[in-house]
Amino acid sequence: MYAPGITQELIDKAVAFHGHWCPGLSTGIRVAAWAMQNMGTAADEEVVAVTETDMCAVDAIQALVGCTFGKGNLIFRDRGKVAFSFFRRSDGKKARLVQKMHEDDLSRRAKEIRKELESENLSGDRRSSLEAEAEHLKRRRIEQILSLPFEELFAVGEPLCDMPHMARRLPTIICDECGEGVMSTRIREVNGRHLCMDCAEKAAGVQP
Ligand SMILES: [Zn+2]
Ligand SMILES: [Zn+2]
Repeated sequence: MYAPGITQELIDKAVAFHGHWCPGLSTGIRVAAWAMQNMGTAADEEVVAVTETDMCAVDAIQALVGCTFGKGNLIFRDRGKVAFSFFRRSDGKKARLVQKMHEDDLSRRAKEIRKELESENLSGDRRSSLEAEAEHLKRRRIEQILSLPFEELFAVGEPLCDMPHMARRLPTIICDECGEGVMSTRIREVNGRHLCMDCAEKAAGVQP
């Protein structure tokens, strides 16, 4: 039994976007379902998401909530944490969800298996039985993530950052070195020349 708000339709949509089914995506589905219930979806740029991870989970946010990099309403704030903030422009409602970390029998056993699989003198039989068990544990983990009460998976609190600015269309400037077009905020001025970041780095490298 899935938790309230989690439907096969949501799962299928997220899996189709992500390409496979995994615990990370399942975590993202729980976050996305929470966001849709509490924030609505990102029709236009109404809802903005800030993700602190670039792992599997963020694909569920893109597929289900509709916050995407291309629309500018998904911001990557690289912190290596399974944490997501949502902001609603219309009324300023905001929240940050962060995954609760706790070890249980599943995660302990999965860790043991990973460790044993690393050793080189494993028999083929032992290896394939461990891999089968790991696969089984992964499926149980997915079920667990999709069925546990939300409060057991995530803590809800205040975002650590302000609401991101609206995505703006910025002018393009031609790099004086390579001739490629660059968004104006990414142009660097080096000795009076306007350079893209790559050419600026190269220019810095050859300077004494
Ligand atoms: Zn994945
Ligand atoms: Zn350049």
